Amino acid sequence: MTIRDPMGDGIAAGWKVLDASLPGAPRAMEADVVIVGSGAGGGIAAEILTASGLEVILVEEGPLKSTRDFRMREAEAYPHLYQESAARKTRDKAINILQGRCVGGSTTVNWASSFRTPASTLAFWRERFGLADYTPEALQPWFEMVERRLNIGPWQRAPNTNNTLMRTGATTLGIPVGEIRRNVRDCWNLGYCGMGCPTGAKQSMLVTTIPSALGRGAMLIHRLRAERLVTAGTRIDALECWSAWRWRRTECIRDRSDGRYAHAILSWRPAPSERRHCCCDRSCPIRMV
Ligand SMILES: Cc1cc2nc3c(=O)[nH]c(=O)nc-3n(C[C@H](O)[C@H](O)[C@H](O)COP(=O)(O)OP(=O)(O)OC[C@H]3O[C@@H](n4cnc5c(N)ncnc54)[C@H](O)[C@@H]3O)c2cc1C
Repeated sequence: MTIRDPMGDGIAAGWKVLDASLPGAPRAMEADVVIVGSGAGGGIAAEILTASGLEVILVEEGPLKSTRDFRMREAEAYPHLYQESAARKTRDKAINILQGRCVGGSTTVNWASSFRTPASTLAFWRERFGLADYTPEALQPWFEMVERRLNIGPWQRAPNTNNTLMRTGATTLGIPVGEIRRNVRDCWNLGYCGMGCPTGAKQSMLVTTIPSALGRGAMLIHRLRAERLVTAGTRIDALECWSAWRWRRTECIRDRSDGRYAHAILSWRPAPSERRHCCCDRSCPIRMV
């Protein structure tokens, strides 16, 4: 069976994908919308906004690794695909917190179990965060749309021995059991979802919404960290980002080639009369577009 790699193929075909860690990346860009992070939220938003005709830039602090890069090796996958090489912990170090840090975000490394946000969770969000519209009824069309888009359906294979035992035990105890739904297409059942799907079966953002957005003209800039929103009164004028190239946490980064600062500024296209110089608090020469 041929393994497809939509990102690799698209880049070869000329999609707008930049690695901000390389010297020479542009320092100022503009778009209708800048999306920070290319995970579940960012990928879906990029596809919807691009399809509606907006010019979109996706900013992702992690690297781009695509299907052909995934080799089911922990030593490669953790440092490349996870925040803090998969060693992120709670403050007391009692609990490991796994989170993706790569194009596709956590969807590139997640385990593909796909269920709708439970009604009890939505109720909590409504009560705690004032998200009055977040009812199961209001979200149903969105859930359905994403389920279709990501090919979410019941798991087709028989459970393995440990899960069969779990089912037997739960049933014996009167605990209801069910099979999890998953976002896969022609899954090989390799069991390496957490290291990036090497067959492209997992319908992560990396093989679905991001290629779709890029195919419609969106731009992806990876290894670029969104650092600060530049505001003018109540309006957001720009997003300042720092490149991972010669990353310094507290200083601007100088570009070896021409001595200028190497961080980029992405702006929500202000009207020409509103354009002005910008920058970080130092005397940075970058002009905001
Ligand atoms: C190992 C693992 C297994 C999982 N398994 C499941 C599962 O089976 N089922 C399930 O429902 N959920 C699972 N999840 C959780 C699920 O993947 C996440 O809830 C979901 O992806 C969150 O979407 P998000 O867009 O909020 O964030 P993410 O998908 O995590 O994406 C956020 C992205 O933003 C980038 N980013 C963050 N800050 C910046 C910045 N300042 N500038 C630029 N980029 C930035 C990050 O690098 C990351 O790529 C799993 C997660 C992990 C890590």
